[in-house]
Amino acid sequence: MPKRSMTRGPRSHRYSRLVLEPAPVNAAQSRTAPEPNQTTSWCSTSGPRTPACAWCGSALGDDAPRDAGKVWCGQCGVATTSPWPTDAQLEAAYGDWYRPESGRFGGVGDALLRRARSTLARRIDRTAPAGRVLDVGAGDGTLVSALRDRGRDAIGLERHATGEHMQGGEIADVTGTWAAIVFWHSLEHLREPGAALAHAARLLAPGGLLVVALPNIASRQAARFGDRWFALDLPRHLVHVPAAALTAKLTGVGLHVGRVSHLRGGQVAFGWAHGLVGRLPGHPDLYDAIRAPQARSAPMSNAARLYAIAAAAVLSPVAMLMAAVEVVTRRGGSVYVEARR
Ligand SMILES: [Zn+2]
Repeated sequence: MPKRSMTRGPRSHRYSRLVLEPAPVNAAQSRTAPEPNQTTSWCSTSGPRTPACAWCGSALGDDAPRDAGKVWCGQCGVATTSPWPTDAQLEAAYGDWYRPESGRFGGVGDALLRRARSTLARRIDRTAPAGRVLDVGAGDGTLVSALRDRGRDAIGLERHATGEHMQGGEIADVTGTWAAIVFWHSLEHLREPGAALAHAARLLAPGGLLVVALPNIASRQAARFGDRWFALDLPRHLVHVPAAALTAKLTGVGLHVGRVSHLRGGQVAFGWAHGLVGRLPGHPDLYDAIRAPQARSAPMSNAARLYAIAAAAVLSPVAMLMAAVEVVTRRGGSVYVEARR
């Protein structure tokens, strides 16, 4: 699920300092899109034209391939969100609803989330060398708590940090040596994700473990659902990374890539369910439907919510089947990678 309101602060990114011509309003797409959605809405906002690939830093000229809400880099194959959001636009895009203190999903959903993080914590604790763990974009600190419950010293980095063992700031400000560093669906929220990975690689102890999970733009579900793909999540997701570009980057920063999973990063079956439900008349939003009322991007009537959930129940066998196909063919909706220094 799109998540992690995090280190997208105004201090260190270079693009916002550039004075740029306004992006062209994507009038052609607005005219042809039968129904507005999050992507087409973002395309119609004004904002600076994206000048460089956020993943590798290559300049993105007028000839760079563009589609709704993003521009592709010919050097590394990663797409960067375009227009490039200002800090104010990002702040508005997260809003208070994104991660309310009262929880995102209500009892059962939040309990499932805690269980999933506990499984991840166990795996990290078993496979990382002795030492501290840093969770970059730690959200409400669920993984940090799960690690500490296992006796691991762990710190969470989160822009609006609250609670014990959580701190604000960006990974660029972090020093010292770490046994493991985790980017769980957080890298795509950063303005300089490539630099963040390079810095993380330098912070790792010899044999230290880097764990990354992020949406895979080269997945079957991304191709199938296009600008309505659940994990496109504009403008909060600033880069759209094919799995192969992630592993190439990790190798490029001097790490040894180990496990690559198209299942473990989560959101694979849900991405299909969300996409299939969103194709029904009225484009019901399954993600909003399963979230607590205070955590929805827009108000939703009970009838609309029931419609979305009933549709998901009916379509779930199809979603599970498509998810299985993605995983087996290694084109999963998300990718999970472990790499070591
Ligand atoms: Zn690039």
